[in-house]
Amino acid sequence: MSKRITILGSTGSIGRQSLDVIEHCAMEVAALTAHSSVELMEKQARQFHPELVVMTDEKAAADLKVRLADTDVNVLSGMEGLLEAAVIPSADTVITAVVGMVGLRPTLAAIKAGKRICLANKETLVCAGELVMAAAKREKAVILPVDSEHSALFQSLEGNKDRGEVKRLILTCSGGPFYGKTRKELENMTREDALRHPNWSMGAKITIDSATLMNKGLEVIEAMHLYDMPPEKVSIVVHRESIIHSLVEYCDNAMIAQLGAPDMRLPIQYALTWPKRVPGPSNPLDLWNCGPLTFGTPDLDTFKCLALALEAAKTGGTAGAILNGANEAAVAQFLAGKIRFLEIADRVEKAMAAVPVVQTPTLEDVLAADQAAREAAL
Ligand code: NAD
Ligand code: MG
Repeated sequence: MSKRITILGSTGSIGRQSLDVIEHCAMEVAALTAHSSVELMEKQARQFHPELVVMTDEKAAADLKVRLADTDVNVLSGMEGLLEAAVIPSADTVITAVVGMVGLRPTLAAIKAGKRICLANKETLVCAGELVMAAAKREKAVILPVDSEHSALFQSLEGNKDRGEVKRLILTCSGGPFYGKTRKELENMTREDALRHPNWSMGAKITIDSATLMNKGLEVIEAMHLYDMPPEKVSIVVHRESIIHSLVEYCDNAMIAQLGAPDMRLPIQYALTWPKRVPGPSNPLDLWNCGPLTFGTPDLDTFKCLALALEAAKTGGTAGAILNGANEAAVAQFLAGKIRFLEIADRVEKAMAAVPVVQTPTLEDVLAADQAAREAAL
């Protein structure tokens, strides 16, 4: 399969798994970016021979330049470098695998440059879904989901493009490491407790989001934008086993689902190869030994972050940017050991109350809402 790919965030969990798929499927790499992991980036550059590598951290970029002096790889730095990688002419596809709303501008740039977008960076859609989807429509850019639930929805919607036949989208939710716990029990949960996810191994930020269930709330907003659905047509079902990756319920009550082993390489690969399917590195699902599948209702009282995200989904406008900005700031504080687990939701709630919502926002409105929410959360 001849494809040339740029990965924004190649040293992260999604980035590394993307390179595994690229190697297996004999695709080529045009550009790679990361924030500060110089050692791993040097290794990736020597293995995949990109034309360009970018370290957004200036010091890391200077270090990498020295390390790669014997190669013809171009090294750039900062947000300008990230934007350059997003639009590099030799790439046809961009995987957006950076964490956080820092991915917004490069995603918009890649859309404008006519790239296929394999979107992992959900914060971008949560903050500016209307702007991103409108830009994609204008530029006729294809956005393919990498998030496992959204890939499952995409696959379950295929052949049924008429959204009028869809009764609702149903996102599955593992429940995270604190499933079944009371608020009292959550009071003293540490960073290490929260970083222990039962089914998936992911970056630190999304792992904390999975513990608070904020991740599922962000995914509801992501699904609304990707599939043009109102919030009342997106439901959540707790499914501890992470075997069914999400479902579509149609108007005749048929439910179509996608199943697979919990392995992100499958949705990453399908975003890259769609509309084709090819053999790849992901693990097969052993249905005969995976045990019973269970389904339940999420606990919105204990996991307040999810309730707040559903509220933001209903409000629309810059509510998503406010929710996300406050959450990014609060999660960073929790990871730094500065606030307690339950305070993450408190900070988000405070920011949502303090920052006014703008409907039909411009990019400037979104950036301002993000900034105000971060300040309000701290
Ligand atoms: P990660 O923390 O493992 O990796 C993040 C990548 O972004 C790294 O390459 C890092 O160098 C880069 N980065 C970090 N801060 C940056 C900054 N300020 N500027 C530029 N680059 C920066 O994260 P991840 O788990 O791979 O998640 C990446 C994205 O994919 C997130 O939006 C996440 O929600 C989404 N996602 C992840 C998974 C998963 O299984 N990990 C699943 C679904 C969706
Ligand atoms: Mg997901």
